[in-house]
Parts: sequence; structure tokens; C-alpha cells
Amino acid sequence: MNISEFIKDVPVYQELYGSLLDPNLTLNDLKKLPELSKKHVSKNFPNNWMTTGLKKAVDEEDYEFMTTSGTTDDRMMLIRPKNWWFEVEKRLYSYLKKIIPEYTDMQSKAILTTAVCSNTLCYKEVPPFEKRIVNGILHLNITQDPNKWTKEDIQRMVDEIDEFKPQCFQADPVYLSVFFKLLKKYNVKLPDYKPKCLILTYEFCPKKCLEIIRSFWDIPIHSIYGTTEVGFIFYQCSKGNFHWMDDETYLNFKPIENKPNVFELLVTSFRNPYMPFMKYNTRDLVYLDPDSKCSCSDSNLFIKQFMGRSKDITYSASNKVITLGDIDNQLSKLENNILAYKLDFNYDKKLIFRFTSFDDKDLKSDQLNEIKTTLNDLYENLYEIELIREEEILPAPSGKFDIIERKSL
Ligand SMILES: [Zn+2]
Repeated sequence: MNISEFIKDVPVYQELYGSLLDPNLTLNDLKKLPELSKKHVSKNFPNNWMTTGLKKAVDEEDYEFMTTSGTTDDRMMLIRPKNWWFEVEKRLYSYLKKIIPEYTDMQSKAILTTAVCSNTLCYKEVPPFEKRIVNGILHLNITQDPNKWTKEDIQRMVDEIDEFKPQCFQADPVYLSVFFKLLKKYNVKLPDYKPKCLILTYEFCPKKCLEIIRSFWDIPIHSIYGTTEVGFIFYQCSKGNFHWMDDETYLNFKPIENKPNVFELLVTSFRNPYMPFMKYNTRDLVYLDPDSKCSCSDSNLFIKQFMGRSKDITYSASNKVITLGDIDNQLSKLENNILAYKLDFNYDKKLIFRFTSFDDKDLKSDQLNEIKTTLNDLYENLYEIELIREEEILPAPSGKFDIIERKSL
């Protein structure tokens, strides 16, 4: 496949590739091309993407702007055809219905995630039920911080689930865990209706949250990985592996130094004609195991685990690379009632582990000691560890939960 057609007139690639931009580029040439960083995407936006095609679309008003949901530092503006996300949803559905036969109507879906922005819309005030059904999909949350959900909020969402009866429930794992926690706390009954499948996406899924969710809804759960920039790319099969949804995307893996099998995920995607992404570094980390095979029916490439973001990498006393995935894998082995947690690196030689518990009760002292030992083992006693149970852990302004906190560094 000749790929120069997609990119030859795009200023950002003319500048980035120089003489490498020849008219016969194919996917095999991706290896030799430099990566596209978030800085490249944003520098002089949207002029860095302006082609005659995009100019025409702007003149004809067939475009929409979108902002990615990262932290303030790495938030990016995007430009794409109107209703582009609907195509992303359609593509996801065509994959999901293969693995979840009960999911027969794409629009029978409810979403529980940040209210700041749920990809297609933002809520500034409280819109009624009907107004929150967009392209047939119901958006449940209207509160910026899920910790602030009142008994009325929880009851409203339960009622709306019963009324809407979504075949597919798509949620941010932390939001859904907080939902179940508050449902229990306020003594609200679970919805009578149970969705046919649960899709977890939007951010890193801590295993403790998955445990909580599983204890409330025994339905098939699949995690999905995607980004606002390129849409959904991986879905989790019944064996727990993440298979590549390969239409119009291509992958490269950039090794992390001194961290075998962990890579930054680089994506090439022509799904958005206004912003064709070439070897775009998502800065998300994946764990690949070249020796393992998945026993499900999907023969496509798969990754074993998402390991968090490269900006959240920390180091042990002997400089070992520690990813968020490493931390979560260790913590999830412990028996305790933790819901959300945060590692606060804002202190000299001290690491504060902040956490909330599902029942708002303190952990037992041996459970606390286990957490301390686990963190000491990971960081090779680099830090003095302090554990603090919080009433709530606040989401970042983006609405997501940053687990690694180190503002001052
Ligand atoms: Zn599989």
C-alpha cells in the first residue's frame, strides 16, 4: 500500500521527513521514518495539518474541533470530519458483536465516564435524560467529580439504566467502582436490568476496581484501548489478551531502555483524513510477550497488558524502571478493601501512598504493612513510605485519575 498519498501535502510531515518523503512510501518504510510526537501534532495547529483538502472542508464547514483528555501539559487540539466519532463507534461495534453475540444493537449503549467531556459532548448544566441520548447512546454522568454523587444521583442513574436497558454498558473503571461503592453506602438497589456486556475504557484499569465491579455485575467484561486521536485500537478477548483491531491502523513498538518486553505504542492511522497519524507516539506503555500465543479464535497480534503512560515511569534505588502496571500488578495481589490509590512523589525521599477503601473503613495493620513491604520491595527501600487513607481521591481537571503524582519534579 502506498502511503505517501495520505501525507505528501501535510506540512507537518514535509517538515518532519524532509527528503524521506518520497512518493513511493509504503507501510514497510514506517521503520525508517521518525516518530510523530504530541509536540509535532500541536505546533502551529491547525496550519501544520492544512492541505487543500482540509481547506475545502473548513470552507464547507465539514469539520469539528476536539481536545484530547490528557493533563493540561499534553492536551492537544484535533480537527476531524463532523460526526467522526460515530464512525469510531460503528467500527468498535462491528468488532464487539463478534465476541458478544447478545450485543445486537449498536445504539443500545450507556456510558459512564467523566462529565467534563465524553468525546462527543460536554455538560455545563444538568440536561434531562432525553438530551443526554446522543446518536442513540445514553450518557449517564453529569457530575464533575464522582465522589460528589449524592444518593439522588445514584438513584437517578439506576432508574435510567432500568429505563434505557442498554445492551452494552461502557464505563471508566474508577467511576464505575465509585458508583457501586456509593450505591452500597446509600443503600440504593442495583438496577433490575443487567447489561449484556461491560466495556471498560478511558483510563488505566486498576485490578482492584475490576474486582469491585465483578462482585456487582457478573456479565462479560472487556477492556478496550483507544485514544481520542485515532479511536479504538485494541479489545480484550475472553482470555484477557488485547487484540489489535487492525482496520486502517498499523503499529510500531518502541523499546523502553532496560525494560524487557515493555514498549511505547506508536500508531499509524488514516482514519481521520484531516490528520493522518504516522508513527504517532501515544506515550502509552504496553507489555508484549513474543513467546505466548492466545488460545482464543482471534489470530491477530495481541499485547498482554497496558502498563500505564511513559510519563508515569518511576525508578527504584538501583534505577530499575517501574511502570504503573508493575505497581498495580503487585498491589493487586494483596487482600484488602482498597478502591482507588495514588502514589504521591512530591516529597523528598518520601513516598505517600494515598488510598480510599470500598467501605470507608481503615485497613488492618497487617494489611497496611503488606502495602508498605510491597512498595519497599518495588523501590528497593528508596523511600520512606507513608500510608494515608483518604475519604476521597479527586480526579484531575481532565476528569481522569492520575495515579502517579509528582508536580514538583
Ligand atoms: Zn485472544
